[in-house]
Amino acid sequence: AAAAATAEEPIQPAVEVKHTQLLINGNFVDAASGKTFPTLDPRTGEVIARVAEGDSEDIDRAARVAEGDSVDIDHRERCRMLLRFADLIERHAEEIAALETWDNGKTLAQAAGAEVPMVARCIRYYAGWADKIHSLVAPADGAHHVQVLHEPVGVAGQIIPWNFPLLMFAWKVGPALACGNTVVLKTAEQTPLSALYVANLLHEAGLPEGVLNVVSGFGPTAGAALCSHMGVDKLAFTGSTGTGQTVLELAARSNLKPVTLELGGKSPFVVMDDADVDQAVELAHHAVFFNQGQCCCAGSRTFVHERVYDEFVEKSKARALKRVVGDPFRSGVEQGPQIDGEQFNKILRYVQSGVDSGATLVTGGDRVGNRGFYIQPTVFADAKDEMKIAREEIFGPVQTILKFRAATRVLYFLACGSGMEEVIRRANAMHYGLAAGVFTQSLDAANTLSRALRAGTVWVNCYDVFDATIPFGDYKMSGIGREKGIYTIRNYLQTKAVVTPIKDPAW
Ligand code: ADP
Repeated sequence: AAAAATAEEPIQPAVEVKHTQLLINGNFVDAASGKTFPTLDPRTGEVIARVAEGDSEDIDRAARVAEGDSVDIDHRERCRMLLRFADLIERHAEEIAALETWDNGKTLAQAAGAEVPMVARCIRYYAGWADKIHSLVAPADGAHHVQVLHEPVGVAGQIIPWNFPLLMFAWKVGPALACGNTVVLKTAEQTPLSALYVANLLHEAGLPEGVLNVVSGFGPTAGAALCSHMGVDKLAFTGSTGTGQTVLELAARSNLKPVTLELGGKSPFVVMDDADVDQAVELAHHAVFFNQGQCCCAGSRTFVHERVYDEFVEKSKARALKRVVGDPFRSGVEQGPQIDGEQFNKILRYVQSGVDSGATLVTGGDRVGNRGFYIQPTVFADAKDEMKIAREEIFGPVQTILKFRAATRVLYFLACGSGMEEVIRRANAMHYGLAAGVFTQSLDAANTLSRALRAGTVWVNCYDVFDATIPFGDYKMSGIGREKGIYTIRNYLQTKAVVTPIKDPAW
């Protein structure tokens, strides 16, 4: 059924591509070089549109405009403008979702049903912050009055990835604007379209020209120029760990701008032996296959207790076989194509490496159809911790199931039987620390595991819950800092202490 779905003619998206130029100083303009690059439909590999290709000259122009424009917009007006923006997003939800599906390949059901509403929610959440940021008075010793002022950082440089183009736009731009900063945002070269569309809506909502500038382009050119720019005061980056290291280095070498990074992961999903296996299978499946497996927090190491392991593997296979792969615009489809040929080939190489290293390929492992970048939902069992498929981020629809055992230290009765000690050790033996999932009915197991797992988020009996209030971020090499909630606010404010003597200490 999956192969047939992709052999059919692709459904024509119900949206036109209106904006393909760079958005600088409130105007859509060509790149200084005049160059353009194609953005592709992952269903077919065909060109959707050619987009202006920004480079260092365009980044420089955008950063200068942003510097000049960091005049404080009144905070009440910032709040109102962001609320109007959220309303406009909802009004244009269908077009926005269609554009996102077209450029990225995610299902329309997901884009329209989950992501666009989350974007609106995120923007409203930060609108609420805009008029609630205020300074403190420090209770200093001695006869001094100490004000601690929270000021905008200035020009925020933001680099976003292709897996959630709109949501990453909202997570970045929402807090930056709420705090009174200006922004130069570089989109991912695979998915430039939706950010241009919504950035235009933000201007319709009343954003003054030059406060948000959007530059499409490639990483080593436009992205690196943004990281190195002397006029950029802060960087926020979401992408791979290797690129994050480059970003941090470029920031350090230029003007030491502070950097927040949200990077890769290889998150454990732990299924204890008391779990309802059907529910555990469904959630573990969702944790890894959601968004074609293209999530930094994908639960991509499925650790299953030996007592339920065989049943879990059998049912995971059945679930993967049932997963509906096809044109993401078609209703009922659960999985669209991967983003591009590079990711597609990389995922298939990981599958081969899983087979070569001796893991059991339970189902999948091949492409679907003969055009576009569709991959079969794939499940490996009997994986070992040291295998590449259990250590490296695959970023595709590939589940890797690992077995853990009940503790064998019979003398220590407390540890006996749960297997927790082993799974904690193995789950934490990883340089990533983004997220973790725990599936159990035992409150004690949930508490022990969630306290012991070294990860920025632990989802207990749920996964991928991303409300705007919940901090998201990383331990270890998964990144630096937190986004969302109150935590992002801190990333976009400077702290200034103003100290004045008190002439008459009695007062
Ligand atoms: P992926 O490998 O998944 O494409 P990347 O980390 O390379 O992830 O990409 C995430 C974002 O980082 C994209 O917007 C990309 O253009 C940008 N990027 C890639 N290389 C660099 C670089 N050297 N400097 C700055 N940004 C970069």
